[in-house]
Amino acid sequence: MACIFFFSIPAHGHVNPTLPLVRELSARGHRVHYYETEEFRERIAAAGAEFVSIEPYMPPAPENIDRIAGKDFAALIEMVTDTTLALDDRIAADITREKPALIVGDSVCFYSKLLAKKHGVPFVCSTTTLAFNTQTASRMKPRLPEIIRTVLGMPRIERSMQRLRDHGYDVRSFVDVIQNDALTDTIVYTSRRFQPSAETFGENYAFVGPSVMARYPRTAHARPLVYISLGTVLHNAPAFYRRCIRALSIMDCDAVISIGNKVDPASLGAIPENVRIFPRVNQLEILSSADAFLTHCGMNSVSEALLCGVPMLLFPQHSEEEAVAGRVQELGAGLRLKRASAKSIRRALEAVLTDHRYKRTAQEIAEDFAACGGVNEAADFIEARI
Ligand code: UDP
Repeated sequence: MACIFFFSIPAHGHVNPTLPLVRELSARGHRVHYYETEEFRERIAAAGAEFVSIEPYMPPAPENIDRIAGKDFAALIEMVTDTTLALDDRIAADITREKPALIVGDSVCFYSKLLAKKHGVPFVCSTTTLAFNTQTASRMKPRLPEIIRTVLGMPRIERSMQRLRDHGYDVRSFVDVIQNDALTDTIVYTSRRFQPSAETFGENYAFVGPSVMARYPRTAHARPLVYISLGTVLHNAPAFYRRCIRALSIMDCDAVISIGNKVDPASLGAIPENVRIFPRVNQLEILSSADAFLTHCGMNSVSEALLCGVPMLLFPQHSEEEAVAGRVQELGAGLRLKRASAKSIRRALEAVLTDHRYKRTAQEIAEDFAACGGVNEAADFIEARI
């Protein structure tokens, strides 16, 4: 039985899909060491892995994380560089002691790939977003402010590359940091049908379908259930929640809104009897009974909705979410929210609830997901590379 190191970034959307895989690998007798921040300790340990805290090695999260998450490329590269160099000695020592057969790293946990390459450990990429190559890159059209920020940040990016080179990392440019070569073995938690341009990804890509820890039965309810969430990162949007509440207050439905931990519920005003507000919910459980989902189009939220056959109102916040929203719209399982006014939200939600084509398509995709190899295929894929 092998020792396998897992790395991810501290984000629920990136950790969640790996947990069923960790549970399966541990059940098969492998020793999994999972490098993450303290926030995830319990859930990682519960999945059967040995939790290793990277908290002491992480640079402090920038104050303006809400503004830059997914948008400030130079800041991202600096964070990756700082973390890589801070972890360098620790990981070298762990590799010598544990002799891992494999490192499994999230596709945007760039330091995992850099560390694997430097220390000569085989690497498998775990992709919780859409799989990325030059064909699919065109779908992630950055918005103008993102492009301007990236161009202005090029000197900072080059300084980071030089710091990595100075410490023995073989990186010619930031492309070597953010992109894998086409031959990297990669697990993607969606289906080939959902993945755009799937034919451009070879056999080294395993599209295993959404990966979730548990499934829940649908509970019967008299009125349609609407679920609203902007995910776990960019969810500090009190004005948007207020408009949602106004829209829902005159709709014949029940609603659950997950507002995250940054918004004070008291700032949302009077809550009508058909709306319930929570800082966090068991999203899969809610989606199992939901009839429409207003989502920021994080890949996991969309995959979980489709797994449950729930049609969506699409409200992407940055380029990666745009790509996911575009795919849902293209396949016909959701409608894009064009304006975030209370009136537009109400009209668009009503359209998603009453036009049954969205639901039918979402259910077809659910069937396609159910036919994927799932966590067993992902574990077989990893074992074949040990
Ligand atoms: N999530 C949850 N409860 C909430 C909100 C989100 O459990 O109240 C989970 C959700 O099920 C998903 C993840 O957090 O697995 C969010 O990931 P996603 O990729 O959709 O978006 P991100 O948070 O990374 O922007």
